[in-house]
Amino acid sequence: MKQETKCIQAGYEPKNGESRMIPIIQSTTFKYDTSEDMGKLFDLEAEGYFYTRLQNPTNDMVAAKLTALEGGTAGMLTSSGQAANFFSVFNLASNGDHVIASSAIYGGTFNLFNVTMRRMGVDFTFVEPDCSDEELEAAFKPNTKAVFGETIANPALSVFDIERFAKAAHAHGVPLIVDNTFATPVNCRPFEWGADIVTHSTTKYLDGHDATVGGAVIDSGKFDWMAHADKFPGLCTPDESYHGITYAEKFGNEKAFITKATAQLMRDLGSIPSPMNCFMLNLGIESLAVRMQRHCENAQKVAEFLQAQPEVSYVTYPGLPGDKYYELAQKYMPNGTCGVISFGVNGGRKAAEEFMKHLKVAMIATHVADAHTCVLHPASATHRQLTDEELNACGVKPDMIRLSVGIENVDDIIDDLKQALSHVK
Ligand SMILES: *Cc1c(COP(=O)(O)O)cnc(C)c1O
Repeated sequence: MKQETKCIQAGYEPKNGESRMIPIIQSTTFKYDTSEDMGKLFDLEAEGYFYTRLQNPTNDMVAAKLTALEGGTAGMLTSSGQAANFFSVFNLASNGDHVIASSAIYGGTFNLFNVTMRRMGVDFTFVEPDCSDEELEAAFKPNTKAVFGETIANPALSVFDIERFAKAAHAHGVPLIVDNTFATPVNCRPFEWGADIVTHSTTKYLDGHDATVGGAVIDSGKFDWMAHADKFPGLCTPDESYHGITYAEKFGNEKAFITKATAQLMRDLGSIPSPMNCFMLNLGIESLAVRMQRHCENAQKVAEFLQAQPEVSYVTYPGLPGDKYYELAQKYMPNGTCGVISFGVNGGRKAAEEFMKHLKVAMIATHVADAHTCVLHPASATHRQLTDEELNACGVKPDMIRLSVGIENVDDIIDDLKQALSHVK
């Protein structure tokens, strides 16, 4: 099946007389005939459901659809993108371990790594996505357990050279984790370029309608855990909380990572989305391919419009010829990148605020990557906890406006920008 078809059909195949849409199994618990049946689930000896804090059938149908879209072997949904990124890293690295991350990542992820996970004893080295081979090489330590980056960074809009970072990670015997939120599996499939684990904030294009917060973790099934058993004792040595099973042996490379994340992290941290939210996420994914095409078409026209305006000091969009990341975008996302553009207006921070005040179609919202056109001033919103130095390190200029181009008629969006720009002349 092609991506457009998978968006509609993957993950759930109704049998004769069953509901056409995925059923919403809004139940915390599941009934069994004997305690022995139930015991087998607790021992991971049988597959099935017993409590929705760990797993739910509706959630798993939608996870299966996303797994098919990414070309992976196993996947899970989480209650937010933050939870997904936390799970993806903490499933591999704990107290005393080290992780390399691109410095051009979402502000919330940067804070999760740099503050909260450091407090848990995980050390991070941040490298610029365009660092030299020597700088990347120097970042690895004996206790490095993973490398992390974003396909298209939010909000820096730099394109991550997945193939290059995957090669470096694999040379050191560790997996590459890629947050594919902005590109979506319609425009980029990181597994095809060597990534091992993909994460998503499904809150963005996948849901697409400002309706549900959520996340996903998907495994390519390609990383050979037992070949690097000394680095990954959590996957390659017995888990005493499950009668001594070894995930990598019992579940193989295809399922070990997600089974461990479910059995340990979901069990203990409980970041599960509600079945109702997963049902709504599935509705969003059904139209993902069509929406992404429209987002990219609209954003391309808006970026070209902005570039031609004298009031605009710069435009960053990886789909624009001449953009620093145009070539990488052509390589990884030949059919389009995303709907998000960033730009500055002459007059800096103050002019940016004045311009935004006059917008009517584009709404000021702490959101991005959905059907509605919206704008945000990252330095005074999502990234306000970062210092100017940290802002620059993750590619956010203090005067930068992040414009998320929706799927409205593009003429209405451009007219709105035109009239708002007239106020900063
Ligand atoms: C929004 C976002 C996140 C965090 O996701 P939430 O669903 O808001 O928790 C992580 N990564 C990227 C790239 C994002 O855009």
